[in-house]
Amino acid sequence: MNFDTIAATATPAGSGGIGIIRISGDRSVPIVSSIFRSYSSKKNIITNPCNSHRVIYGHIVDPEDQSIIDEVLVLTMLAPRSYTREDVVEIHSHASYVVLDLILHLLIKKGARLAEPGEFTKRAFLNGRIDLTQAEAIIDIINARTEQELKIATSHIDGGMKSVIVEISNFLVKFLSLIDASIDFPDDVEEIININTITSDFQSHVFDKINILVKHYNDEYFLRDGLKVVILGRPNVGKSSIMNCLIGNDRVIVSPLPGTTRDMVSETVNIDGIAVKIFDTAGLHNSSDPVESIGIQKVYDNLIDFDLVLFVVDATCPLTDADHLIFSKINKIQGRKIILVINKSDLIHGNKVNAFPDLFRVDGSATTSALFNIGIDFLRDLIVKVFINDKHFVLPSHVVPNLRHKKALENAKNAAETAISNIKHSEPLEIIGLDIKSSIDALGSITGKNVDVDILDQIFNRFCIGK
Ligand code: GDP
Repeated sequence: MNFDTIAATATPAGSGGIGIIRISGDRSVPIVSSIFRSYSSKKNIITNPCNSHRVIYGHIVDPEDQSIIDEVLVLTMLAPRSYTREDVVEIHSHASYVVLDLILHLLIKKGARLAEPGEFTKRAFLNGRIDLTQAEAIIDIINARTEQELKIATSHIDGGMKSVIVEISNFLVKFLSLIDASIDFPDDVEEIININTITSDFQSHVFDKINILVKHYNDEYFLRDGLKVVILGRPNVGKSSIMNCLIGNDRVIVSPLPGTTRDMVSETVNIDGIAVKIFDTAGLHNSSDPVESIGIQKVYDNLIDFDLVLFVVDATCPLTDADHLIFSKINKIQGRKIILVINKSDLIHGNKVNAFPDLFRVDGSATTSALFNIGIDFLRDLIVKVFINDKHFVLPSHVVPNLRHKKALENAKNAAETAISNIKHSEPLEIIGLDIKSSIDALGSITGKNVDVDILDQIFNRFCIGK
């Protein structure tokens, strides 16, 4: 494909040892050569193709007055042996904001355009160097918050996901070509519809493979996406205090007056290598304050977005009507895990905590004193254990799809199931062909073979400028 020439700083803003500006496109070499003077020959040598993939020492100069802007190293990588498969030049200068900005301005003056976020990687994808799952892996590597997220992202970088998708697609494409041949040459092609053979072939070549990938997502999605945990309960039971203990600082204001935390406050912590984003919320009760009421409603509306609720109650008093109401609201959301947290245990004696009914301990319970930091380590462990079901934790060696992949896999499976059902009901071959085609298309959207422009934009907008 033919694109214009783009340029951007590839290293983070701020001062440091080295800053890198990256230029990609047909004109990257002449543009850089117009502002670069090599030290040894004083002549410009980067235009010589023999110098591709070699580092050349010299200066960036302002062509108008020949003044030196910085001492640099220039690395040329001619197409197709580059990140974008286009001619790429990197200028390694000193990492001063002023220097990088001056060089970038010169490049733009000479005909380059400032790159958009993720545009270099988008070109690598559009020019066929990587597929969409590998592009997503690159952004996941850049954004990894824990070692486990990093390991899962790197397992996608060599195209592990792509190879399974290609296997399933190849089977479907072969089947589709058989259907097309039967439509075009009904007399020449033998009877293709042996429903028993087809059902078992689809089971092993399509459904089993998709089911395994979806299971990996369902069982292990939190290793790549992290967990979202919300702390809920009546005002003053100690929600903010528990949040502060979990994150290990005084981020949330704790007050003896009910209703201090009006909006959701969140912080991410690393528990056993899993990124856990914890949200503190407004105390849930019948409030006469309109602002607080909006906050409370927002909490209930957003419950579906969380993986786990820490339902905090006060150990010093029996469950109130408000506790029962909150529990009924959180318990009715299917698949949401709930841990009962019985807080202020320092104020009770004996085994009063046993008085809290088992019904409330849906996925476990913890007895804590946020004031004295008691039971918090147990709670922290429990948050993660609830998801790994006490199994000995082993980092998966297989690929774990992301939510976008999972949805596309389910669409592909549904379309293939419809095809099988239509075969059983002796529907016309044209209809069955359409079902198979939409199954292939759904799989193609995972690797980027056929994907909406909006989805591409969504993916590449997650990148920073310069990547
Ligand atoms: P929230 O409204 O549920 O977020 O509750 P806060 O965390 O703001 O705490 C309300 C009050 O209870 C504050 O005065 C805290 O110091 C106090 N508190 C919180 N946790 C405990 C605890 O475990 N034991 C005792 N004795 N007091 C606590």
